[in-house]
Amino acid sequence: RFISFEGTEGVGKTTAIEGLCHRLTSQGIQVVRTREPGGSELAERVRELFLNPDNHIDANTEILLMFAARADHLHQTILPALKLGHWVVCDRFFDSTVAYQGFGRYKGDRSALAKIESLIEQFVPVVPDVTLWLDLDIATGMQRAGKRAAADRLEANDLAFFERVYQGLAYQQQKYPERIYRIDASGSADEVATRIDAALGL
Ligand code: C5P
Ligand code: MG
Repeated sequence: RFISFEGTEGVGKTTAIEGLCHRLTSQGIQVVRTREPGGSELAERVRELFLNPDNHIDANTEILLMFAARADHLHQTILPALKLGHWVVCDRFFDSTVAYQGFGRYKGDRSALAKIESLIEQFVPVVPDVTLWLDLDIATGMQRAGKRAAADRLEANDLAFFERVYQGLAYQQQKYPERIYRIDASGSADEVATRIDAALGL
């Protein structure tokens, strides 16, 4: 099975993924835990370039970097693992590109979204079986993330940017309701873990 996690800043993705992978492993399931941007040697280098504000990356470059990194990640990590019958648990996948680049940077511009959707069709041969969207309001997430968020994107202090990213995830969820499960990410890590297991039927 191929599972991806999505969410805005500070929703607790890392904790939730760690916990899920631990529970799967203790059931004897072979799990490959990975992330985007990143998940292969080349894609992790792209991630460093991407998250470095000194590079002043424009919106189109962002989109293309994400897809270049993803192509390598698929080739080196995801596809081989799925072929071996392992579970793949991925921290972010293409829904994040729609949300951060399409809605965050391009503000939901129709033609930008169409380009991203076409790149997904052309360059992403596998769609996650289940996507878990950890849904938490932006303000609470920012509080949880604290200083951590500021290290990531240039827009770290731009609430409107992250509100658009949130809208982008909501847009994807409405478009693909059978694939994308909205998980209430408020409450304790244990409560969130229980909701995740229920969604996955574990
Ligand atoms: O998921 P994680 O917090 O590790 O992602 C690091 C940062 O990369 C996020 O804070 C987000 O701002 C950024 N990102 C992005 N566009 C993507 C994926 C991630 O801007 N498509
Ligand atoms: Mg983060």
